[in-house]
Amino acid sequence: MSDNCSICQPRLDPYGEVLGQRYSTYLAPTLKEAPAEAEIISHKLMIRAGFIRRLAAGIYSYLPLGLRSLRKVERIIRGEMNRFGAREVLLPAVQPAELWKESGRWDKFGPELLRIKDRHDRDYVVGPTHEEVITDIIRREVRSFRDLPLNLFQIQTKFRDEIRPRFGLMRGREFIMKDAYSFDLDEKGADVSYKAMYQAYQNVFRRCGLKFAAVEASSGPIGGSFSHEFMVLADSGEDAIAFCPKCAYAANLEKSSSPTYALTPGLLNAPLEKAHTPNCRHVPELAKFLGVKEASIIKSLLFIADGEPVMALIPGHREINQAKLKDALEASALVLASPEEAEKITGVPMGYVTPVGAKVKILADLGVERLGSGVAGAGEKDYHYLNAQVGRDFTVAAFLDLLLTEEGDGCPKCGSPLAIKRGIEVGHVFKLGVKYSKALGATFMGVDGQESPIIMGCYGIGLGRTLAAAAEQNHDQDGLIWPLALAPFQVGVLPLQVHNPTVKAAAEDLMDKLTALGLEVLLDDRDLRPGVKFKDADLLGLPYRLTVSEKSLANNQVELKARNDRTVTNISVDLAPLEVQKLVNLALAV
Ligand code: ATP
Ligand code: MG
Repeated sequence: MSDNCSICQPRLDPYGEVLGQRYSTYLAPTLKEAPAEAEIISHKLMIRAGFIRRLAAGIYSYLPLGLRSLRKVERIIRGEMNRFGAREVLLPAVQPAELWKESGRWDKFGPELLRIKDRHDRDYVVGPTHEEVITDIIRREVRSFRDLPLNLFQIQTKFRDEIRPRFGLMRGREFIMKDAYSFDLDEKGADVSYKAMYQAYQNVFRRCGLKFAAVEASSGPIGGSFSHEFMVLADSGEDAIAFCPKCAYAANLEKSSSPTYALTPGLLNAPLEKAHTPNCRHVPELAKFLGVKEASIIKSLLFIADGEPVMALIPGHREINQAKLKDALEASALVLASPEEAEKITGVPMGYVTPVGAKVKILADLGVERLGSGVAGAGEKDYHYLNAQVGRDFTVAAFLDLLLTEEGDGCPKCGSPLAIKRGIEVGHVFKLGVKYSKALGATFMGVDGQESPIIMGCYGIGLGRTLAAAAEQNHDQDGLIWPLALAPFQVGVLPLQVHNPTVKAAAEDLMDKLTALGLEVLLDDRDLRPGVKFKDADLLGLPYRLTVSEKSLANNQVELKARNDRTVTNISVDLAPLEVQKLVNLALAV
């Protein structure tokens, strides 16, 4: 055999990956059934197809197939980061607690932060994110305006002790993230950095073959948005997105701006009246009993924010958006008070809690301000107030947008009815401002000799989550259908009779020619029934399959099948490699 024989010396791609692999010696264990804990299709299929295996809750190993696909996501991301001027670094996973104390996040981060001690009893964290570490580098290394702007990125393992790790790679505790951090002299520069990353992300997710949308994650103080999430649209997504079919507005429901909806103001200056409302703890029965609209009831909800009780008032026919309330209170933890807690704090059972004379801080939704007056709890079991008037009968610390946007609400930009869709957050771009540079003292000396804090931005992409999102969007009842850019191999070669020397030789020859063209091939050389091989091929979801059989070879042909639309063509053995190369190049040229 010659020196460059593809059997004794495998052909490698420019990244050092082996172009052609044999299934029989490749660790790709497929399963008939998914494990019980796998709830969503991407998780089920990635386990069944032998891409990943679970080690502990939210902690997964990538097997060879999974790692090949992960590397592809990684290369796409790295390429786009480099293209847009970010420099790669690699920061430690283990970080000293002192840095987190300096930023204030040692106390603020909560139980998601994995805290560990070394042998000297010193505190450390396993990094859930790297603002502190990167800002520490910058404060030491950057002196003057001449050193900026800078954008640094890394692709590295994070740990977040998620309360509910689930969905496989989608919400893990240990996961791989690309995180980038930009450092600029001024707001204008920070905007340029932000836009560059926004564009890089558009390229990344387009090249990954995903259907996605960039949505507003919060609105800036001066109009413009300073945070966008990149959402892959999928019914199993944990996030809900408000979309306006008319204008370009799209926002995470958690953060979507105040929607417009009809509301009839209450009677002003009518006397406060106490009404007997037996067994009317909930809005629907109370509205029915009193013969009023649910919208004219002021719902008083009790929360515990960082240990302190807070009351939130909203119109009775709507739901509260806890994320907005949490943001407004700048709380690290916010939970709805249990019926027992609510009764302990207010002295009345839930459903009769009143804002009138309340001793806790009250925040109200803008809808309550529009209402002006309405039915509210009377602070006494089985009683409610009629005509409880804002400002006269109770005072509110602030009126804010606290509502959960609903399907059909008016778009905050153009008023058209909003649609709600579900999505998976795969990436996040965020203008940080001076939060970390101020806390850690990362400053630069300006042209005028003045010291100013550096303006920062941060930009994250979850690699495993992106891969899982691709699986979530691309599958059928038989298995995965990888977008070409993320498939572990571009083509599978299936010899059906491995004991037939002609079939075997033809398959080997195909692998040799395909890999010589730079194509990635998985040769299913296992001694198994054709049915089993076909099933596994469908499950793995390689984009193209070349089936080599005694029958087809009799006509000097092989069968070419596309996994996505299942089109089948019989082509000559000699033309097959070039034909596949053409298809692959076409698909990659997006
Ligand atoms: P989520 O709201 O889903 O918890 P996050 O807002 O905490 O996400 P960021 O801190 O913005 O996420 O992290 C950047 C990216 O890292 C996310 O867009 C996502 O792709 C990924 N990511 C975050 N948490 C996880 C996780 N637990 N498992 C896998 N990927 C994650
Ligand atoms: Mg999170």
